[in-house]
Amino acid sequence: MEHFDLISIGSGSSGRKIAVGLKRAGWNTAIVEADVDHHFGGTCINTGCIPTKAIVEVSNTVRDFKTAMELKQKIVDRIHSGTLRNAREKVGTTVINGFAKFVDSHTIEVDGKQYSADYIVIATGSEPAIPPIKGLTDVSYKTSKDTLDLNNLPEHMLIIGGGRIGLEFGQAFHNLGVKVSVFEGLPHLLPGEDEEMADAIKNHLTEQGIAIYTGKFVDEVKETKENGKSKYTVVLNDGPNAGEYKGDYLLVATGRVPRTSGLNLEAAGVETNRRAVVVNEYLQTSQPHIFAVGDVIGNPMFTNWAAWQAGVVLNNLKKSKKMTEDWEPLKTPNIPRLTFTHPELASTGLTEKQAKEKYGEKNVVVVKFYNKWLGKSMIVGDWTGFLKGIGLKGSNDILGVHLWGIRTASLLQMIILAMDNGMGWKELANMVYGHPILAEGIESLSKMMVGKVFSQ
Ligand SMILES: Cc1cc2nc3c(=O)[nH]c(=O)nc-3n(C[C@H](O)[C@H](O)[C@H](O)COP(=O)(O)OP(=O)(O)OC[C@H]3O[C@@H](n4cnc5c(N)ncnc54)[C@H](O)[C@@H]3O)c2cc1C
Repeated sequence: MEHFDLISIGSGSSGRKIAVGLKRAGWNTAIVEADVDHHFGGTCINTGCIPTKAIVEVSNTVRDFKTAMELKQKIVDRIHSGTLRNAREKVGTTVINGFAKFVDSHTIEVDGKQYSADYIVIATGSEPAIPPIKGLTDVSYKTSKDTLDLNNLPEHMLIIGGGRIGLEFGQAFHNLGVKVSVFEGLPHLLPGEDEEMADAIKNHLTEQGIAIYTGKFVDEVKETKENGKSKYTVVLNDGPNAGEYKGDYLLVATGRVPRTSGLNLEAAGVETNRRAVVVNEYLQTSQPHIFAVGDVIGNPMFTNWAAWQAGVVLNNLKKSKKMTEDWEPLKTPNIPRLTFTHPELASTGLTEKQAKEKYGEKNVVVVKFYNKWLGKSMIVGDWTGFLKGIGLKGSNDILGVHLWGIRTASLLQMIILAMDNGMGWKELANMVYGHPILAEGIESLSKMMVGKVFSQ
């Protein structure tokens, strides 16, 4: 049986980082990937962040389906092959194609062949969560992955789920000429985000012509055939939007769940909680030599957060093979939450509601800066949206920042830098900003906040 110092199950941004990083440090490592030809590099590269954002970009600019799909494929192919070449040829990590399952806590099996390792990393990512809607499992619904491989534009796309993925696809396909209807069961779109921002985005998308139904979970879906083609019906039994909505494409975008099925975790003695692998602050599972990183340990599910966790394991194992006082625990930094609608929403920290629940309504200070007040917004011709800051009376601390406007995803990074390094509104306000630039919105927001939090 072939033996490795470490095997990563999964080649995504988390597991790959550990296996490649340790190979560079002289370890004998392997990566098992269920589909090396099409999915090496994981979800982000092949069926997640990169292809969706390529389609979003073209849908906002050229607005042509064929161009969008061609560009998407070109970028995916390029990054996929480069990532595989780097891991396998340049660094020399062993790459094993096939679906891995545990035989025992040091052994896995892939296509009937067994491999053992001193350390194993579970980095199997996540898969779409399919809600228990009547009829759903009987119809040929599509996921985000299927939608990235569309050959022809549908006429009417019905999207169940008004989170990040649903809205990014919804607006992109609307821009490409498809009629789009979005169904979100909760009262606000983008669950987890600031409700005021989510409502503003809902109004904006509605004005653009996307039909959005919030506050009622879908009761039933049906599929019929017309001239050999599938037609779908989404049923809302009651509420203000009660009715039957018909379309020719049904996208289910209701979140993602850790991918642990088929891994035979019981054989390894690895504990899970509601499908997520349970880990301690060093990302060790219930078996200290088995780590779990990325989406498989649960929310939040972002590629950079997955890679951040992997960095903790990589650095610790590089320091010493056994846990010592040199090992550093996973600290939770400020994580950027990005929604790539147009314009984009970039947030970090608490929402207004969360801040008020935590610190009391009277102590929380909220300021807003509208992009229409900014010279640069006028120059670039798009002043949709506003920036919202959440502060605390008498304090320099940044509790939360929510930026809705063009290119705000990049702007958020200066807020993260400040928050991670003990800086606050004063530091953001007290520097010379270039002019005219979009970051001047942050300058104004911070100055408004400093004025308000220290006013009494
Ligand atoms: C449509 C979409 C858009 C997204 N957009 C963004 C975005 O803009 N920004 C962002 O930060 N995040 C985004 N994400 C989330 C991001 O893709 C994930 O958080 C990230 O890929 C998680 O990395 P990971 O290493 O945990 O798992 P993955 O990247 O999913 O890698 C896991 C790999 O393991 C393989 N695998 C699974 N089980 C086995 C097994 N038993 N044996 C062998 N191989 C196995 C899988 O094939 C997969 O390649 C998006 C996700 C989706 C679906």
